[in-house]
Amino acid sequence: MELEVTKKERDCLIFIEEYKNGDFPIRLKDLAARMKIKPPSVLEILARLEDKRLISKNRGMIVLTDSGRDEYRRLIKVHRTIEALYSKCGMDADDACRKVSSFDYLIKPDDAEKIAMLIGNPKKCPHGKPINTE
Ligand SMILES: [Zn+2]
Repeated sequence: MELEVTKKERDCLIFIEEYKNGDFPIRLKDLAARMKIKPPSVLEILARLEDKRLISKNRGMIVLTDSGRDEYRRLIKVHRTIEALYSKCGMDADDACRKVSSFDYLIKPDDAEKIAMLIGNPKKCPHGKPINTE
């Protein structure tokens, strides 16, 4: 099944995974601060992600479900592949990251795979992070 996520849902999934602290999930107010939006707006996004079975909430703590983690890995793989492409075009890594973040969630993983092949299947993004996070 192919899931569709919006830009805000994408950001939410990525922040939940990247700003958890070891085994400690991120809390609503920290997530709101990271996303620079008010907690009630974050709750609306979280409700949609919960409907899509991508996250679960427990006493103010927010974690990705197994499908949420799969979606996170897909997003990251596309993000870092396109970053690698932009970097090959001579773009600065941070600049590439910023630009790619605005549209990576719209790119199909299969298409990213083709781009990866064309640019020699890079293992890492321009920041040195792994493209495959399995
Ligand atoms: Zn990036």
